[in-house]
Amino acid sequence: MIQQSQADMIHLDVMDGCFVPNISFGFPVIEAVAKNFNKPLDVHLMVVNPDQWVSRLRDIGAHFVSVHVEACNHLHRSLQHIRDCGMKAGVAINPHTPIHCIENVIDLTDLVVLMSVNPGFGGQKFIPATMKKLKDLNQLRQNCGASFQIEIDGGVDLQNARELISCGADILVAGNTIFKSGNPQQTITQLKQINA
Ligand code: ZN
Repeated sequence: MIQQSQADMIHLDVMDGCFVPNISFGFPVIEAVAKNFNKPLDVHLMVVNPDQWVSRLRDIGAHFVSVHVEACNHLHRSLQHIRDCGMKAGVAINPHTPIHCIENVIDLTDLVVLMSVNPGFGGQKFIPATMKKLKDLNQLRQNCGASFQIEIDGGVDLQNARELISCGADILVAGNTIFKSGNPQQTITQLKQINA
């Protein structure tokens, strides 16, 4: 269904039960997805010590790999490592983390994943303060002349998508909105038709 839909890519939430209070899936599933789809893989690592998995994700053919700023003691090195492996480097930021924490790695960042829920579970409600954070991040991007993309992850639905796009979001991650829909493919099409 996703393959035939208008979805631009597949976002994979990898959870280790340590960085987040839940376990999702690991490499057997990621590899199975990679084998069966020809859309770009957007891998969101919600794990401690993410660096150790990066080269394996390169071998699988991941397009984006995002690590959490809260999980990386050496974020600069982690992002460089992802890029050195030929992939796009993403930084994910939890709701409590201020956006200024990425200022010193902007040159190494292709994607900023703004968490609009606390990571660990699907189906959570969008945190409204994310809108202001998104506007500030968009402003920061303009002020720095940076070209990273902004991705919103958590609680995205048909109601808030337009405002998110108009505030500067480039990529919307939708889980429940699509998979709990009676007609997922149509819901993807509706999301794709929303313009700011
Ligand atoms: Zn995610």
